Amino acid sequence: MSVTLIDQVLGAVEAAADEAAAFTADLVRIPTVNPPGDAYPECARAIGERLARAGCEVEYLEAEGRPEHTAAHPRVNVVGTRRGAAARPLVHLNGHFDVVPAGDGWTVDPFGGLIRDGRIYGRGACDMKAGLAAAVFAVEAIRRAGVELAGTVEVSGTVDEESGGYAGVAWLAERGRIAAGRTDAVIIPEPLGVGRICVGHRGVYWFEVETRGRIGHGSMPFLGVNAVDGMGLVLRAFRDELQPALASRTTAVPVVPEGARHATLNVNGIEGGQRVGGIQTPCVADRCRAVFDRRFLLEEGFDATKAEVLDLVARAAGRMPGVAHAVRDLMVVPPVRTPDDSPVIAALAGAIARVRGEAATLVASPGTYDHKHVAAIAGVPHCVAYGPGELEMAHQPDEWCTISDLTTATKVLALAVLELTGTVARGR
Ligand SMILES: [Zn+2]
Repeated sequence: MSVTLIDQVLGAVEAAADEAAAFTADLVRIPTVNPPGDAYPECARAIGERLARAGCEVEYLEAEGRPEHTAAHPRVNVVGTRRGAAARPLVHLNGHFDVVPAGDGWTVDPFGGLIRDGRIYGRGACDMKAGLAAAVFAVEAIRRAGVELAGTVEVSGTVDEESGGYAGVAWLAERGRIAAGRTDAVIIPEPLGVGRICVGHRGVYWFEVETRGRIGHGSMPFLGVNAVDGMGLVLRAFRDELQPALASRTTAVPVVPEGARHATLNVNGIEGGQRVGGIQTPCVADRCRAVFDRRFLLEEGFDATKAEVLDLVARAAGRMPGVAHAVRDLMVVPPVRTPDDSPVIAALAGAIARVRGEAATLVASPGTYDHKHVAAIAGVPHCVAYGPGELEMAHQPDEWCTISDLTTATKVLALAVLELTGTVARGR
């Protein structure tokens, strides 16, 4: 019985492959560029209407109370619910529908939704409108196969992932729409590759360092204290002392690519003294600021990460008499890691093996995505990313996703939903 049912669902996905590709292309044609957050209501409606046809109850949830939710750029999220015999188990499939700006270097129209040679092209085709289409068509295939779920599936299309997700997944989680005690598992179809399950990401510590000196005449620099020179000492300590230490630390979390398996530090920007290209002013720079992006490992923890930075900045700046310094936190995102024995990993791994005939690979992301809000705000531990498309394609010119990846991911998601809602057990 359940083998037949699984085959029927897989057959329904296969039969809907062109429709799913066309739906992805339709979404690509809605230019949901973020920043600033264009065309969100239109895209939410397109997803909502398709979910309604897939038998879902649809709600449009505007991010009331968020400063970025404005009349010019409303932040509209959409959630479709297909309720089965019971409210739970509840599986939530979440995809963001905002995309980064197109940028230069395209040979096709970034918002044309071109389908050619088995690929869907355009900004967001890979990250992650194909993933959203896979979630929607997983539910549609279950409906077409005539399956009544034992539990419930939700599909959400959310805003602003590319800018932090505060009006999107974080907002839904703050309002209890995605929450422990309600939501049993969350799958985010980000483009990690159809054979890979993403079980988390490293932590982020964004901080600003400021050095202060004393202004003086540029012709008599010995009468002032140059804050840019002070920052130079900090940069040098980061490069000569901190970076080799970070490179030697390796996480057991399977972060890809390989280079991101270590702790890293990037200087994002620096400014100090006279503005370069500005009006000439013969002064000793009395103030310099720089912004850093430190990615830390689960094994390091935030407290030790910050303490190490504070110590190093103090020692470096202290080498130059008269230089004062300050460190300010700009953003802290704790690392996340799905438990190894999580049912969401088992369900996806089983589905991947069945659909692709190969064992799944567990990976972790070098950057962060909405998983952080599911873990920290919603408190749902059973969350992973799994979706169509190649990670390396994200944010690139001529971005594309193959229809075959889209179909594979849709099959895997559909089977995972069947298992996680308790509709069929794996392997039967
Ligand atoms: Zn994405």
